[in-house]
Amino acid sequence: MTQKTPITVARGDGIGPAIMDATLQILEAAGAQLDIEEIEIGKAVYERGVPSGIEESAWASLRRTKVFLKAPITTPQGGGFKSLNVTVRKTLGLFANVRPCVAYHPFVETNHQNMDLVIVRENEEDLYGGIEYRQSQEVMASLKIISRPGTERIVRYAFEYARANGRKKVTCMTKDNIMKMSDGLFHKVFDEIGAEYKDIEQDHMIIDIGAAKVAAHPDMFDIIVLPNLYGDIVSDIAAEVTGSVGLGGSLNIGADFGMFEAVHGSAPDIAGEGIANPSGLLLGSVMMLVHIGQGDVATKIHNAWKKTIEDGIHTGEIFREGVSKQKVGTEDFTKAVIERLGQKPSQLEEVNYATESKGIILPPLKEREDEKKERVGVDIGLNFTGTPDELAAKIKPCVTDNLELSLISNRGVKVWPNGAPETFCTDNWRLRFIGKDGAHIKTSQVVALLSRLNEAHMNFTNALMLHKFNGVEGFTKAQGE
Ligand code: NAD
Repeated sequence: MTQKTPITVARGDGIGPAIMDATLQILEAAGAQLDIEEIEIGKAVYERGVPSGIEESAWASLRRTKVFLKAPITTPQGGGFKSLNVTVRKTLGLFANVRPCVAYHPFVETNHQNMDLVIVRENEEDLYGGIEYRQSQEVMASLKIISRPGTERIVRYAFEYARANGRKKVTCMTKDNIMKMSDGLFHKVFDEIGAEYKDIEQDHMIIDIGAAKVAAHPDMFDIIVLPNLYGDIVSDIAAEVTGSVGLGGSLNIGADFGMFEAVHGSAPDIAGEGIANPSGLLLGSVMMLVHIGQGDVATKIHNAWKKTIEDGIHTGEIFREGVSKQKVGTEDFTKAVIERLGQKPSQLEEVNYATESKGIILPPLKEREDEKKERVGVDIGLNFTGTPDELAAKIKPCVTDNLELSLISNRGVKVWPNGAPETFCTDNWRLRFIGKDGAHIKTSQVVALLSRLNEAHMNFTNALMLHKFNGVEGFTKAQGE
């Protein structure tokens, strides 16, 4: 008999306990060899005053088992609570989020019969750093972080996943026509790493048209790799167009840990009604079984689940008169899957997972030579009420010491010198200072400049050094510059 694998289970909030109960019943009936440790996360923990929604003892269990089957939780709105999902993903280094989105035509109503795609979403970076500032009375800002190692890992994971699962094509989506540096890096690394995977077809799309195509023609995609925020949005679009967000399972994977869940949330609107579809979490648990080397049990459950769907035994949100045969609640759906363990679907494609887990082991990150870094200027943010010319007049006397004021921008648009009178300005401004005649600048020049601004009562909010790397500017020009 297979040795039992320790896993950590959390029942979550809303419909979480009901769908977890269903999933665990099916896992047990199918003969999954699991040694389950339960932890409490989410609403009850937040209400005990733990702002992260997870207690120390729960981390200890996760570190022990390294495998987490997690039901959805309810994130309290506002009030300094941090999203538990984001905290767990980032703390455990779960850099990849994998969401297969499959149509089950003709058994589940969908406009896209042949849809079978996988979203590979970067899980740790981008705007999900949650690094935000109020910069002035009028302006809030969020910092978008895209790193080369973070991108290299997710892109390589997408190509390796394609190879391991017999997929043919990887599509990257970014908005690098606008975010030339952050999204530009993601696209560039995609091209660089992609060059090592000539056997896999590859292309890039701008995210807006890409998301539209996922909604209207999802069957043109195979694997899609995206930065975090776009991945979040596109994976919900893709899950929804399969027929129901309730059908999607999701895997979060890092070097040492795996977390398995449903794509959907805690659905408080239907909690306690006994009607939730447990399929998303169940399919998440199938991915978990493959991950821990119990592929035979995963095969048994996945085929029985497909047979149940094929037999028209459907929960309310996918039930359609004339297509479905029997409308069931969570409990009866669970019983129907258990009854079909050992059976195979006759029309939907049968699955057959390898018994042993091969996993995806990524090679070390590419070695890179250090680039020559030269400081060429500084951007200083400050609050001011008035016109760009009035601001420039106040700042100019402070600009000595071989520096020059090259630009004032507002919300990224150049407003001085020669700004357009039509441009709307907020109370938050960015001033760009560079060394005279392209000279490099020293930290001491910046400190002295800040001191002169301070003496002139021009209170700055931030200062960001501008560098060139191997002679290439590491900052964008302002719009209109
Ligand atoms: P949701 O996914 O919970 O629900 C969206 C809609 O889909 C609702 O109408 C719901 O009834 C329906 N639905 C979802 N799952 C279903 C299922 N299994 N069976 C039948 N119908 C289902 O999204 P939401 O309402 O935006 O979010 C609710 C809460 O869940 C929020 O607090 C949110 O923060 C949280 N959330 C948690 C996770 C997670 O834990 N991984 C993910 C997303 C949202």
